[in-house]
Amino acid sequence: MQTIPPARQPGKPESACNSLLEAALEYAAQGWRVFPLHNPTSAGCSCQKPDCNNSTGKHPRISNGLKGASLDASRIRGWWAKWPDANIGVATGPGSGVFVLDVDGAKGQASLGALEPVMNLG
Ligand SMILES: [Zn+2]
Repeated sequence: MQTIPPARQPGKPESACNSLLEAALEYAAQGWRVFPLHNPTSAGCSCQKPDCNNSTGKHPRISNGLKGASLDASRIRGWWAKWPDANIGVATGPGSGVFVLDVDGAKGQASLGALEPVMNLG
């Protein structure tokens, strides 16, 4: 698994560098289509919907969601100029070259443990 740290721009003050934007641009540069997500705030979720408890900071800010994901640096810069704190969504699945295996809690660990010998993981 490859993990990409957010980019830092040497010589630039931290306030002039949006690491979320830089990370989104790096993901796109390697072919991962990205889109902006809402983000957690001190009051809950940036969408400000009281019924957002189960998806705080995990749902799209753009109306077409992952279908609007893009590799276009100009579009990505526009999104993070509008929402500097947006979490980064990555379109996964067929055609993206990216898949995600989300292992949540003890039940997820047990499921992964059952998969490892079958899938020759680890
Ligand atoms: Zn929300």
